[in-house]
Amino acid sequence: MEKKVSPHSVAVHAGDRKRPEGNSPAWVPVTIPIHTASSYFYNDMQDLDRVFGNEMPGQSYGRYGNPTSDALEELVTALECGPSANSLNKPGALACATGMAAIHMALSTALMDRRRVILAANQLYGATLGMLAKVFEPAGIETVFLDFCDDAAVKAAMETHRPGAVLMETISNPLLAVPALDRIGELCHKADAPLIVDNTFATPLIIRPFEHGASFVVHSLTKYLSGHGDTLGGIVVADGANLDLLRALARTVGFTLGPFECYLAMRGIKTFPLRMERQCANAVKVAEWLGRQEAVERVYFPADPKHPNAANIQRLFAEGLFGGMVSFEIKGADRARIFRIMNALRLVVPATSLGDVHSMMLYPAMASHRDIAPKHRARLGIHDNLVRLSVGIEAVEDIISDLDQALRNV
Ligand SMILES: *Cc1c(COP(=O)(O)O)cnc(C)c1O
Repeated sequence: MEKKVSPHSVAVHAGDRKRPEGNSPAWVPVTIPIHTASSYFYNDMQDLDRVFGNEMPGQSYGRYGNPTSDALEELVTALECGPSANSLNKPGALACATGMAAIHMALSTALMDRRRVILAANQLYGATLGMLAKVFEPAGIETVFLDFCDDAAVKAAMETHRPGAVLMETISNPLLAVPALDRIGELCHKADAPLIVDNTFATPLIIRPFEHGASFVVHSLTKYLSGHGDTLGGIVVADGANLDLLRALARTVGFTLGPFECYLAMRGIKTFPLRMERQCANAVKVAEWLGRQEAVERVYFPADPKHPNAANIQRLFAEGLFGGMVSFEIKGADRARIFRIMNALRLVVPATSLGDVHSMMLYPAMASHRDIAPKHRARLGIHDNLVRLSVGIEAVEDIISDLDQALRNV
């Protein structure tokens, strides 16, 4: 594939329609088949031996991958690495059972033979905070949390703690903070600490963390990339320096994504840039409308010129795209009123998750940030009157009229 190809074309073509090498068969399926075989053999045992020994590309056992996961991995690598693939020294990806499995694999790989200290943003996805506290900490891996939007604090912490890995999200959940990824990438590079970026909220259409110094980019495929609310999956994209170790660990741990899910994710990704553009455009209009409502106390949205990280957003985001997530506080609302509003929704789906074609509303205090003590939640700025909206691809006037009736009638 040419350099600098539009993500719209990459999404449709990368990883698919591989021409067979040599002679037969002469036909090429227009989409990747779902390869369900759990193991593979060759005409000659020598070939299987070479594949096992990593001397020859090929398939051997389903836990190590299959042609369907290979195609998905190639596709997401092309989307995330884009024109910087050369400088990344043969990057590649590993499809995982879920986004959480992907984060686990990235952290385990980054920390191998490094100082067992993680520097992490305190504005992380709830389950990621849980994994650091409940899985890594008991295993002797300390995490130092701090506000990644405080440049000076990050710089000081890098020097004080000398982390073995650094973990952040491009757009934080649910308050949509945007740290200075480029400056953090530079600090990590100088300190030789691999930077792991969870790019689930921003997607490679808005920002490609490898261009700013990331060593690993992870996604919950469950969200924007698959986009239809019908599959779970995760993926780690790694630069060439980390890919072999990532794959070697994955073979042992076995977080493998099944072939059906790989197919669904790949099918979803073909329309991801189109969907995302529409979701971003809808979100701008929904955020503007919310900002004018009497019932709404405050709107969190990256297009807001008064956003606390407006300078980072201006520097890092693709022009005119601000993501499809909008969070807002409802004036004086307690949990009971939020529940009534969410029960009144007719089009917007009051369910967990995000990035689907349908709009969704989530109550962070009940769902994503449920396990965090109320006091700590308040310290993070996640108040009990905050809701998070994932704007879908519906007609924007229908989304707004549903929000309008729900906010008015209860
Ligand atoms: C959903 C999500 C995850 C976890 O992904 P799963 O596929 O649910 O395991 C991780 N990070 C972010 C930012 C997410 O939104």
